[in-house]
Amino acid sequence: AKSHGAGSHAYYTEHVGAAIRERTRLLYDLRQAVAKNLLFLAYQPQVELMTGRVVGLEALMRWRDQRGNHVPPDRFIPVAESAGIIRGLGKWVLRSALLQLKRLHESGWPELRMAVNVSVVQFEMLDFLAMVQESLVEARISPRYLELEVTESVAMTGADHVRDVLRQLKALGVTMAIDDFGTGFSSLSYLDNLPVDRLKIDKSFVSTINGHEEGARIAEMVVDLGRKLGLTVIAEGVETETQAQLLKRVGCHEGQGYLYARPLPADDLLGWLTSFGV
Ligand code: C2E
Ligand code: CA
Ligand code: CA
Ligand code: CA
Repeated sequence: AKSHGAGSHAYYTEHVGAAIRERTRLLYDLRQAVAKNLLFLAYQPQVELMTGRVVGLEALMRWRDQRGNHVPPDRFIPVAESAGIIRGLGKWVLRSALLQLKRLHESGWPELRMAVNVSVVQFEMLDFLAMVQESLVEARISPRYLELEVTESVAMTGADHVRDVLRQLKALGVTMAIDDFGTGFSSLSYLDNLPVDRLKIDKSFVSTINGHEEGARIAEMVVDLGRKLGLTVIAEGVETETQAQLLKRVGCHEGQGYLYARPLPADDLLGWLTSFGV
């Protein structure tokens, strides 16, 4: 038993060491990637279920490393957050997405909105609100075309500063969506006095929709909750026509997912919008 204990300790230490080395490596590569402009944005369409119209786009960060491999944001964003790099990156995302939106507005799609993911680390920045305002002015975009997607953890934080920023963004006319809704195991009381406009049903609840009643239960609950609170609801990860039909039937307003389009490079957007029609 003793040797087993010592062995597992060595095993543990080795693995923690490896994890730290990997993180350090990733951070180094990420800093290089930023310096060499290897990061870019992809844009995924958001569709109104009743009409089939494209109403918005979500900007998603992409990183192709020097070997041409795609590094998923779920891997590098947590590292960027803990190292503080997300502050600069987030600003770049917002500015680029809004400039892209301006181009689309000027190319025959004047009503599209742009959704941008915002990390809790950014919200804690004292100049976050000013940065959002400056980016809107720079791109000459009206605040109502910008939606910020925040997770429940941001929305729920009791911090006065965060709450103030949320209210000020709302006053400015920016809309707010709660991302990954339902995955946070959180109390719902925070929703009642928060200035949010939209709930985004997490794709894990959409993937269970398969034509049987039970699979759609959570999605239906979120839609009902949204209705009671006066919030619109969007479903992410819509992959099948069955899912789209069921979501529409329970009153979900919008959908986003591979059924409509994968996240698209900027250069493909106008072509896609034109061929998708409506
Ligand atoms: P998220 O905000 O929940 O984004 C949805 C994810 O689902 C995206 O993954 C998207 O590509 C993927 N997705 C979209 N449609 C489908 C579908 O039909 N089926 C399936 N299986 N997946 C679908 P992605 O692009 O890998 O992003 C992962 C996460 O990284 C995002 O989750 C978001 O939390 C974070 N992220 C991405 N870009 C940014 C950013 O600019 N800033 C911040 N703070 N976070 C970002
Ligand atoms: Ca999102
Ligand atoms: Ca999600
Ligand atoms: Ca997420």
